[in-house]
Amino acid sequence: MVKEKVLIVGGGFAGIKTALELGKDDRFSVTLLSDNDHFTYYPTLYHVATGGARVNASIPLKTIFENSNINLSIAKADSLNRKAKVITTQDGKNFDYNTLVLALGQVTNYFNIPGLAELSFSVKSIDEVERLKAHLHAQLVSNHKPDLNYVIVGAGPTGTELAGSLQSYLKRIIYWHGLENRPIHIDLVEAAKRILPKMPPDMSRRIKRQLRLQGIRLYLGDAVEGESANDLLVNNKPIQSHTVIWTAGTANNPFFSANNFFLSANHKVATDVYLQAEPDIFVLGDNANTPYSGMAQTAIYDAKFLTNNLKRRARGRKFKSYVPKQPITVIPTSEGWAAISWGKLRIYGWLGWVLRQAADAHAFHDFEPWRKSLPQWFSYSSTEAVPCAICAQHNSN
Ligand SMILES: Cc1cc2nc3c(=O)[nH]c(=O)nc-3n(C[C@H](O)[C@H](O)[C@H](O)COP(=O)(O)OP(=O)(O)OC[C@H]3O[C@@H](n4cnc5c(N)ncnc54)[C@H](O)[C@@H]3O)c2cc1C
Repeated sequence: MVKEKVLIVGGGFAGIKTALELGKDDRFSVTLLSDNDHFTYYPTLYHVATGGARVNASIPLKTIFENSNINLSIAKADSLNRKAKVITTQDGKNFDYNTLVLALGQVTNYFNIPGLAELSFSVKSIDEVERLKAHLHAQLVSNHKPDLNYVIVGAGPTGTELAGSLQSYLKRIIYWHGLENRPIHIDLVEAAKRILPKMPPDMSRRIKRQLRLQGIRLYLGDAVEGESANDLLVNNKPIQSHTVIWTAGTANNPFFSANNFFLSANHKVATDVYLQAEPDIFVLGDNANTPYSGMAQTAIYDAKFLTNNLKRRARGRKFKSYVPKQPITVIPTSEGWAAISWGKLRIYGWLGWVLRQAADAHAFHDFEPWRKSLPQWFSYSSTEAVPCAICAQHNSN
């Protein structure tokens, strides 16, 4: 039997799920090409930045694929030769395909605002959040002018989750180090008039109230104009801080413009009803211009949709059309409090938090068997995550 060669580029939610699903079917020969040797579970990166362990947001690709027949290659896809059906990587290797699946995710966008790329912290990768965690601890316990003002830019889901969680983490460090005389402030700056501008207004209002109760200062309708070594310029006024965390902008992966894909007005790739951008080239997850693109649940949904269609085609049946599915939104703002929005349903508080934990544990199981994913998930607050001996001692008590 001649196998269909499927080349998947991108080891994230959509790419891995596609590989795992197709890898079970011996009509396909599957290669996964990714520039990263591990999978990043973005929804819990905020948790790693604020005291969680690396394993709570990252799984090595080797572990995910250890018992599969997927060919795994770690390299960055650079160019596409449509005629020859070949992807060439940055280090000059060629990968040919019958079917190409592109799921490269997004990149951080600073909108050319002066100083941000050089001076702000980003929370888009496991290394970046580890760097932020080390910085937070070092600033807070420093005997020389400790930074007591922390600014998060962007009150979308990432910035909102981070603001709440950051506050409990910093208070924990203060308490452990006996530094109660150091009052900290957390500012959340958003250019739109309300937090979570893409979420239903009632949910946004409820979370705003919760953040205020937690003592977070909100700057709404305020645009960032620049950052210097000591402050952030917002609407022509400086906010003093050595810790500015940028969560306000993403852009589509530059691979698509560099390789002349047809892009929609929002710069995502235009696809047909089968998520096909061009003959035999499918685009999934954050890269595709679908109504709920930009969420992990959508990326996994897209992967399941495509693998189902490719299996149908291999059986001589027709493709089905894509029907977008609205994801469930869950925003935790502190340990023990989260907001859930699912259509018209809203859940706030402790129950929301428990459901979020269950959803994250279940999501890990999408990529690993339970016997591996559960211990990994429940290694919350392990000593590995703690930045110093004093914190480690308190953490283990
Ligand atoms: C901080 C943060 C928090 C989030 N929280 C949530 C949440 O709570 N709930 C939710 O539903 N969604 C959340 N999201 C969004 C969600 O993570 C994304 O929608 C999801 O990751 C998209 O999956 P993807 O497969 O399209 O891309 P990704 O998961 O980003 O995977 C893309 C992969 O491609 C690789 N890659 C990139 N370029 C190349 C190249 N040229 N060659 C080879 N490989 C390449 C990347 O390294 C990466 O491994 C969050 C995102 C962030 C950044």
